[in-house]
Amino acid sequence: MDLKALHKISYGLYIITSRKENRHNGQVANTVFQISTDPLTIAISLNKNNLTNQFVKESKLFTVSVLAQDVPLSLISQFGFKSGREVDKFKGINYKQGSTGVCYLVDGILAYIEAEVIQVVDAGTHDIFIGKVTGAETLSEGEPLTYAYYHQVKKGGIPKTAPLPQLAIKENSGQSKVGKYVCSVCGYVYDPETGDPEHGVPPGTPFEALPEDWTCPLCGVGKDQFAKEE
Ligand code: FE
Repeated sequence: MDLKALHKISYGLYIITSRKENRHNGQVANTVFQISTDPLTIAISLNKNNLTNQFVKESKLFTVSVLAQDVPLSLISQFGFKSGREVDKFKGINYKQGSTGVCYLVDGILAYIEAEVIQVVDAGTHDIFIGKVTGAETLSEGEPLTYAYYHQVKKGGIPKTAPLPQLAIKENSGQSKVGKYVCSVCGYVYDPETGDPEHGVPPGTPFEALPEDWTCPLCGVGKDQFAKEE
């Protein structure tokens, strides 16, 4: 079977948030889609190991924040590569509480959609939550971030709990260019041509010239966890 065929499926990228009483959490997900118009429903798929999955199961509430193409990688890092069991993901983030009490992000997103779970489907490693849309608002106009853009242009990796992580990392390391370095933990590719302007590293900076305390913009590990792209 050619698993790479699954890479031809296109996706967006979103932050899905939920709450458990007064605790709030959220995560990055690529699986959000509208199911029907009457009633208006959407579905999301969340790994069973993720804290957000637990919160959605208990509160039966979730909110989808639609990421903008120009969202800073640091926001994806905060929600995609850290666990809400260890850190408060909303610390230092601009957010608001919606009508269901679930928080949505304010910066780096185009719109948010609020939903109440009406059905849960056990799909193995993941649960599919079908939700009735109870609220929605557009916050800004712009291009939504797609999964393909995230990989190809933003050089982003994906966490272990996302579908198909091994394939995605392999795909990154296949783009063989001189001077690129790959994070062994998340698959982020450091490209000297683009540098890491978000963290003060100008374009044209070779990997070797990065400051010793520079860390992976996505998962936060040190330079020693990077290997030269073959
Ligand atoms: Fe990393």
